[in-house]
Amino acid sequence: MVDNSLKNWLKEKWRGRVRFDEPMSKHTSLRVGGPADVYAEPETREEMIRLIQECGRQNLSCTVIGGGTNLLVKDRGIRGLVISMMKFGSEICPSSEAVLSVSAGMKLGSLCRYCIDRGLEGMNFAVGIPGTVGGAVMMNAGTASGSMQDTVESLDVLHSDGRICRLQRTQLHFAYRSLKTSAFSLKAGLSDFVALVSVRFCLWPADPEKLKKEAQSMMEIRRKKQPVTVPSAGCFFKNPAAGPGSAGELIDRAGLKGKYVGGAQISEKHANFIINRNSASAADILTLAEIVRETVSEKFGIILETEVKIIGE
Ligand SMILES: Cc1cc2nc3c(=O)[nH]c(=O)nc-3n(C[C@H](O)[C@H](O)[C@H](O)COP(=O)(O)OP(=O)(O)OC[C@H]3O[C@@H](n4cnc5c(N)ncnc54)[C@H](O)[C@@H]3O)c2cc1C
Repeated sequence: MVDNSLKNWLKEKWRGRVRFDEPMSKHTSLRVGGPADVYAEPETREEMIRLIQECGRQNLSCTVIGGGTNLLVKDRGIRGLVISMMKFGSEICPSSEAVLSVSAGMKLGSLCRYCIDRGLEGMNFAVGIPGTVGGAVMMNAGTASGSMQDTVESLDVLHSDGRICRLQRTQLHFAYRSLKTSAFSLKAGLSDFVALVSVRFCLWPADPEKLKKEAQSMMEIRRKKQPVTVPSAGCFFKNPAAGPGSAGELIDRAGLKGKYVGGAQISEKHANFIINRNSASAADILTLAEIVRETVSEKFGIILETEVKIIGE
């Protein structure tokens, strides 16, 4: 429940830019999710700091999201404040020929295009991954040709008390589709950050034409292999560390391609994509995901872990 005095403060200070009971289905690529108590799209660091400090004072929990392309929000929604980074600037500040500071709210696709146009190599693996730069770093998003950890040099992160700290690469622990801060930063009190606000990348020079061709062929492969025109959150499960195949191959071999629960379906095109075919609820998707986990576990003895972040109530 949002306290009335906080509600009034938010209404007064943020006018139409803060919404109450905002359906999260509008802000996730799966197009499911119940209401967030409060939903805000700050545009600057100062706005973000004010929001987080005020909500901290009022003990309101805070969830930061990017493009919502790796999220499954449950049907009863999210209690507290949801901060979307989608309007949080889209600046790129080159600090040398191949070092860029990029706002966490920038679309990853825009960063990829910027790098191609200026002949900077290192981001092409990410061509076609939707969402924001911040979300991609938090997820260590990637493909067979690379992941965010290959080029991140440092991160600027915002704490609940309003401090912004820089985490160097040595303080970050990237793993398959995850980022954790190291024991060192934990001791220094740096790991409880609320939001990632900007990212410094170190890239290297290359021929723009070569990068362009590479990007085009990656997009073609994506369109051929993935159901990119229907709502999904990309690969639903992580690939198992070892075993007889990728998550998609195991789901396919278990005979689950095309299986429905309510409006949710295992894509016929790529078995690791759960798609929202027909006004699915989060419950439909979760039930289908559970059937997948049980079937794959029975057939292959492998417990699939979700790559998609499941949040809310
Ligand atoms: C069609 C499709 C194809 C995809 N292909 C790929 C692929 O090839 N490889 C891949 O790895 N992924 C892929 N994905 C998944 C998804 O696009 C990536 O994980 C993406 O990087 C998530 O970015 P986002 O901004 O949407 O993050 P969100 O989904 O909004 O958030 C992801 C996580 O990061 C946190 N977060 C986001 N921004 C911030 C921030 N600024 N500060 C603190 N925490 C934050 C959120 O709380 C959440 O826990 C695909 C998804 C779709 C729909």
